[in-house]
Amino acid sequence: MIKTPHDLQTYRKDLKGALRNQFLGKTLDTFATAYPTSRANAFAGIDFDTLACEIAKGKDESIPKLESLLEEFTAHAREAGAVVHFARTAFEANSIIASIAGENGVKKIVKGKSMTAEETFLNAHLEREGYEVTETDLGEWIIQLRGEGPSHMVLPAIHLSRKDVADLFTKVTGEPRDPDDINGMVKVARRELRRKFIEADMGISGANFAIASSGTIGLVTNEGNGRLVTTMPRVHVALVGVDKLVPNLRSALRILTALPRNATGQVISTYVTWITGATECKTADNGRKQMHIVFLDNGRLALSKDPLFSQALRCIRCGACANVCPIYKLVGGHNYGHVYIGAIGLVMTYFYHGRENARAIVKNCLNCQSCRKVCPAGIDLPGLIKEVHGTILKVEGKKPIRNVLLQKVLPNRRLFHSLLRQARIAQKPVADGGFIRHLPMLFSGNHGFRRLPAIARVPLRDMWDRINPRVDNPKYRVALFGGCLVDFVYPEQAAALLRIARKRAVQFEYPLGQTCCGLPAQMMGEKQTARAVAVQNLSALDPADFDYIVTLCASCGSHLKENYSRLLKGEGALAVKVAQLEAKVIDFSSFATRVLGVAPEEFQRAGQKVAYHAPCHLCRGMGVSREPRELLDTAGLQYVRSGDEEVCCGFGGSFSIDFPEISAELLRRKLDNAEATGAGVLVTDCPGCVLQLRGGMERRGGRMQVKHIAEVVAEQRKS
Ligand code: SF4
Ligand code: SF4
Repeated sequence: MIKTPHDLQTYRKDLKGALRNQFLGKTLDTFATAYPTSRANAFAGIDFDTLACEIAKGKDESIPKLESLLEEFTAHAREAGAVVHFARTAFEANSIIASIAGENGVKKIVKGKSMTAEETFLNAHLEREGYEVTETDLGEWIIQLRGEGPSHMVLPAIHLSRKDVADLFTKVTGEPRDPDDINGMVKVARRELRRKFIEADMGISGANFAIASSGTIGLVTNEGNGRLVTTMPRVHVALVGVDKLVPNLRSALRILTALPRNATGQVISTYVTWITGATECKTADNGRKQMHIVFLDNGRLALSKDPLFSQALRCIRCGACANVCPIYKLVGGHNYGHVYIGAIGLVMTYFYHGRENARAIVKNCLNCQSCRKVCPAGIDLPGLIKEVHGTILKVEGKKPIRNVLLQKVLPNRRLFHSLLRQARIAQKPVADGGFIRHLPMLFSGNHGFRRLPAIARVPLRDMWDRINPRVDNPKYRVALFGGCLVDFVYPEQAAALLRIARKRAVQFEYPLGQTCCGLPAQMMGEKQTARAVAVQNLSALDPADFDYIVTLCASCGSHLKENYSRLLKGEGALAVKVAQLEAKVIDFSSFATRVLGVAPEEFQRAGQKVAYHAPCHLCRGMGVSREPRELLDTAGLQYVRSGDEEVCCGFGGSFSIDFPEISAELLRRKLDNAEATGAGVLVTDCPGCVLQLRGGMERRGGRMQVKHIAEVVAEQRKS
């Protein structure tokens, strides 16, 4: 019953519908607000990053050995009386399970929660074969009765209200149910499901672990149904992805340390069940249960050999990448994944459910890095999402016109910059006060949620020699990497940097051969174009010539620091340059506090109240959080914390063009939170965020100013 749009237009219509669903928005927001605190409490005393590294390392050791782990598991499980099957495809897995049911005269089946069974559409297959299948996890049962798929990997019915459930139960039982009587509804479920357990001949479960050294499967659940499914019926079938194989109990326990904590903020789930082989069973003729374990490949073994995408198999299905995703929070899982949901869903849909189902949803990512930050398996989710997007574009060979233009223009710096200069002339009749006042059709309507900035009268590169003083005997030689926005739209941000560094024996350079950092190309799935501009920037700006490479743009900084090494991996001398570049790139706030060492006495006191927006690529991409706030304090400004300060502003480069409704909603929330602080200025340290926030503030007629942190700090400087 899962319908995932195959084209952007239809997908955007669905997203608009989801954005209008006030209940969905409120519920997801409530959950997302509570989740970080419960997660932090659950991880108290545990170093999450170290744990994530250990899980990633353990998984990376197991993934290339899945076939041998399977052999080892099979030998031990058989010894313990289980039957082990191997299915290459989803259809094969479903057929094996149907055959087990047929051979054992099964009529009724109870089922525990299993994302792997969702992946194979097992219920539909068994029902077509004439079996009655009942989901027994409360959330899964509810969505089964509604004929829906889960909207979250851990909380499958999170999108439904009490009223929805009461109406459903009224229909199912024929008795009116009161939405406020939650206990009454739970009793209905228990009554109905207990009957199903008693009548069932077969139970189907998934598994969170398959331990090779003992042939044991492990299940992590919060409802007792998991144990009833695996113990009551005379036949138990566990459907397990081969990626769940781990070498030993120690590896499983390491994952278990993270799984409930990261999924629901619980230190441990209510039940953890370990099953080794066929156990006693009173309802079986011979007193022993039939235990079948069906391992599913469905592309996993091929994926395990892919140098890049194999890391996706580290996933432990905690669902955290959905919990923290700003887009998931707005539109829910039915619109943010196919079967698998959240960031990992955007990746796995392509591999498990095909290009068509992945084509539109894979574009819906802001590259905000929130998912990556909480993934307990250290998966580079935003990076993989972009790789899937690029792969689809390549395979289909049909590119949007925007991509074709980008591919042609961006690698040619002279052409690119001359087009920007021509745009400055063309905009003259409609530019006023730093904004374009009359937008062309493309940017009206849904795109009119923010004013767009005008191209600067004089780009930074043309004014550089005039504003950059020569310094005798400099202590540091520093290159400024401008990026397109500082160079052609906001050169005043660079002028502010120079003002702050004045009299500090720093010689700045602005190598004119530099061009766009290439992130927009990467965001649009154009890896070759991104690579081409990376090469140009490296030849324009030799890191060996400078002590630091400072950037006022968090997006450029994080792209230079992280993605260049991936784009130029294994490319000899270039790879060496990239390593030097990575070590020297520094964001403005860190440069001002750590290198320039600015001190309070340089600034006027009693500065105004400012709110701060933390750019995704600074706080998560570059891992810089303390320095900007410290700098505001040093500069005598009164920093006041706003709600959701580290949540994305909704810009995401080309994202805001493809998904203006989502971009607008994220922007609205961001500006509401900033205005609620009562501050006069909203400060940030990325020109992309300035573009979004300033344009949005201007559009809503807000009284707050939006400035780059370099500007407010420079304004505070004593003469
Ligand atoms: S990708 Fe990471 S965060 Fe997302 S479900 Fe898997 S393990 Fe959890
Ligand atoms: S990068 Fe941000 S927008 Fe993209 S999937 Fe991850 S959390 Fe969601």
